[in-house]
Amino acid sequence: MRTLQVALAERSYDIHIGAGLLSTFPLADKVRGNQVMVVTNETIAPLYLEAVTSRLSHLQCDTLVLPDGEKFKTLETLERIFDALMARGHSRTTTLIALGGGVVGDMVGFAAACYQRGVDFIQVPTTLLAQVDSSVGGKTAVNHPRGKNMIGAFHQPSLVLIDTDVLDTLPERELAAGLAEVVKYGLIRDPAFYAWLETRSAKLLSRDREALSEAIYRSCLNKAEVVADDETEQGNRALLNLGHTFGHAIETATGYSEWLHGEAVATGMLMAVHLSAELGWVESDLIGRLRDQLHAWKLPTAVPSSMTPARFMELMALDKKVQNGRLRLVLLRALGEAVVTADYDPQALQRTLEAFC
Ligand code: NAD
Ligand code: ZN
Repeated sequence: MRTLQVALAERSYDIHIGAGLLSTFPLADKVRGNQVMVVTNETIAPLYLEAVTSRLSHLQCDTLVLPDGEKFKTLETLERIFDALMARGHSRTTTLIALGGGVVGDMVGFAAACYQRGVDFIQVPTTLLAQVDSSVGGKTAVNHPRGKNMIGAFHQPSLVLIDTDVLDTLPERELAAGLAEVVKYGLIRDPAFYAWLETRSAKLLSRDREALSEAIYRSCLNKAEVVADDETEQGNRALLNLGHTFGHAIETATGYSEWLHGEAVATGMLMAVHLSAELGWVESDLIGRLRDQLHAWKLPTAVPSSMTPARFMELMALDKKVQNGRLRLVLLRALGEAVVTADYDPQALQRTLEAFC
């Protein structure tokens, strides 16, 4: 097992990473009170719920199994969590345990932020995306019909427990979507990690234990540093959004159903790197290097045929990153050095959009 710390001003917490941790880690020791509720979904419950609850049998351990899917990341589902907590008499010293991907993690985290004005919660992420990104950092939310993640809070977990074995059952497309967020850390702040990933594309996709475990560790290390530096996204935390403005435009255009988030981010990052090269900030060979990497993981590198430069501009203008009418983008000054800026030649952006549409 390897352990990292997310060092925050108010309260720091550990991330434990290892094979088989669901059945070996002394989870009960990390629970403050004598009540827990494990929340998961109907896909994950038959696979891993028993492993978690069996570690907690001497506590009041309740479970709640939610339907699976982003479309259930809503206020209605949140109410189900509150109903269950109250029905079973959970007090302010209860601990919620989120067992699942980013959808379960975001929703349970938000429930923990709200229930009795805030209770402890533990993240047990089961997708690669959740292990390397969403379970660390305390962003929690549910969706509103008018916008994704529009209702939420910053609420840090008290522990993140990553069992790398659970990735065995993850569909390959979900694994690849998680790898897109992994390569993001290399691009924005860890060039040595980027180079390391380039030589291990096949191993990672074939779920080589050692390679995956190292990729998760290195990603969490990067995320933990970014979050420790800027917990509530006043500045540098926004660098984690490389490729996301382009990606969100693709997700919105395709109705958040055809493309997985990590797939849209993959193409979005390639567009951001292309624009950075157009601006002369990075070598243009980085475009080909990243494209090869994404191809190796069977991630998309082209935009949907319905997209035009004008449609991109229209959708990107809806993004939260517009300030004073100028679109702020995360771009690369160099490999491993990202910036958030609205100070770039708009003609270069136009050329990038035309190159992809
Ligand atoms: P997800 O939670 O929907 O999981 C993807 C699918 O994999 C689901 O069907 C799930 O049931 C299944 N699954 C999960 N673990 C499995 C396993 N071990 N074996 C087999 N199947 C498994 O999707 P996700 O990609 O993990 O998360 C996406 C969500 O994360 C979005 O709602 C996004 O907004 C959020 N997110 C949050 C943050 C943050 O900082 N809080 C960051 C990135 C993304
Ligand atoms: Zn993302």
